Amino acid sequence: MSTKSGQVQVGRVDWWEEHGDEVKVRDLKTGVVREGDRIARHVEFQLRLYGLLAVEARPGKRVRLFVDHEGTEELPWGDAEEAETRAQVAAIRRDLPSGQVVDPTAVAQVGEACRWCDVRHHCVRYRTEAPRLWTTTDLGFVPPQDIAGDITEAVLQKDPTTVRLRDLGGRHVTIAALQALHGDFWLLPPTTQLWFFGLEPRGSTKDPDGRYRHPTNFRELAMGPGERPAWRLRVLRGL
Ligand code: SF4
Repeated sequence: MSTKSGQVQVGRVDWWEEHGDEVKVRDLKTGVVREGDRIARHVEFQLRLYGLLAVEARPGKRVRLFVDHEGTEELPWGDAEEAETRAQVAAIRRDLPSGQVVDPTAVAQVGEACRWCDVRHHCVRYRTEAPRLWTTTDLGFVPPQDIAGDITEAVLQKDPTTVRLRDLGGRHVTIAALQALHGDFWLLPPTTQLWFFGLEPRGSTKDPDGRYRHPTNFRELAMGPGERPAWRLRVLRGL
């Protein structure tokens, strides 16, 4: 889409509706879209980009943004949100100039967004900083439910679905209910390093003061009623 500012912007919205002076943009989501009591920031940013497109394509019209998941939620969109989004886009363009190859370790910023990022296993910056996330309280955000460390024990024969690690933060960690498709962990020598991306925690992720605490017990498959499996688990050896 070529806009009034002369820049080419591309986006594909799920639903675009125009009535009179109003444009409604909807995004249809499956899966988890909430972060605590709000729509997750990456979903909000996606919708705001659609908002910018709508403003540029239909100047003067009122733009409204909606996320449809379990219910329908309208996201705030006005001058303040538009200005904030334009500033974010400008910052991205500054960090990723067109036509240039950029060192990813120079621009990657470990933080809240990592939880929703599908390329964590490729991200050197994340893998380097992850152990700090696992051992720091008061992070201010929930990090991905990942863990890595050296095998201390793979429960031979009796329970080949469980692996114990000394994680990269020095903690003892247990991962249970693993599917066989990930490999024969019990055949790996102790001290083999494994990375698990996208586990589910077992038990509380809060310390006695209510602060986030990275789990030391994880699982893949459901182990109790109402639990959902870790559908997107990736297990990698020795990154
Ligand atoms: S994992 Fe790396 S690329 Fe993904 S959001 Fe985090 S810092 Fe950015």
